[in-house]
Amino acid sequence: MRIGIDLGGTKTEGVVLDPNGNELLRKRVQTRQNEGYQTILNDIVLLVRYLETEVGEKCTVGIGTPGAISAVTGTMKNSNTTCMNGQPLFEDLQALLNRPLRIANDANCFALSEALDGAGKGYRVVFGVIMGTGVGGGIVFNNQLHQGHQHIGGEWGHNILELDGPDCYCGHKGCIETLISGPGLINDFQRNGGNSSLNVIDIVALASTGNTLAEATLQRFFDRFGRAMAMVVNILDPDAIVLGGGLSNMARLYSEGRKHVAHYVFNDEFLHQLCRINIATAPVCVVQRNYGTVMKSEIKSEGLCRIATPYLNNHQQEDLNCSLSQKNIRLL
Ligand SMILES: [Zn+2]
Repeated sequence: MRIGIDLGGTKTEGVVLDPNGNELLRKRVQTRQNEGYQTILNDIVLLVRYLETEVGEKCTVGIGTPGAISAVTGTMKNSNTTCMNGQPLFEDLQALLNRPLRIANDANCFALSEALDGAGKGYRVVFGVIMGTGVGGGIVFNNQLHQGHQHIGGEWGHNILELDGPDCYCGHKGCIETLISGPGLINDFQRNGGNSSLNVIDIVALASTGNTLAEATLQRFFDRFGRAMAMVVNILDPDAIVLGGGLSNMARLYSEGRKHVAHYVFNDEFLHQLCRINIATAPVCVVQRNYGTVMKSEIKSEGLCRIATPYLNNHQQEDLNCSLSQKNIRLL
């Protein structure tokens, strides 16, 4: 059997898959990045041991993590869990777990997974985006991941969006990640006078009550999302963009956020059509999948996903239109 670990900035989640790819078990723990690299290593080992004890056998282990293994030094780089940068994560975990490992960038794992059997299935060029604690991307051509010469293919979260924007851990200011991640949205709300105790869900809920501070924050967020996504579309022109991570649950991203993408993309004629026609026939299809909690999603026809949600409604399947109507709210 196989264990997959999603090593996030906030949470670490492990699943056990049987030989047919069916999920047997899932466990989520906090990523204690404030306690340092050794704690993260130990927690991963404990998680693997727990899962193996539960299923009663030794498994193979694959890990998706922010950042990448440097092609030059073999150590971690570019992780927003900064205590891992410069560390030989791959070698240390192989030694601690006493077996060969597979390790890859989390957004690349997400993009490939979605392209192979998820919301991007059947599309030639897929750009997968994780918008959560950080912002990462992955590019898949014809079901093959494009990792890139320096293993940074798709890492558009550190393109600079606003020169005078917030400081980023990477050393620059105003990276996409500092503006359209969860912390980025919260920080923007606070910088503009918002209550410091509110999280993303609170801010979105507050905006829906007509609160002007929260609504203005969301409007800036959608505009930044539009500018950031337009960078990708203008270069890659993907057939499908699949969003994951906590912020992908924001239903308005797929209506208002989408309009901002349309505004900034270099193709007015196409955008005009996109506004008018059914999205199912549009070349670019933005669909939602809450990575980590949706077990399966498949394109039934272009623009229509069938999604099975293991934690909601007892594995009920739902057909969701990619035009992202109110139905998407059910995925929250
Ligand atoms: Zn950055």
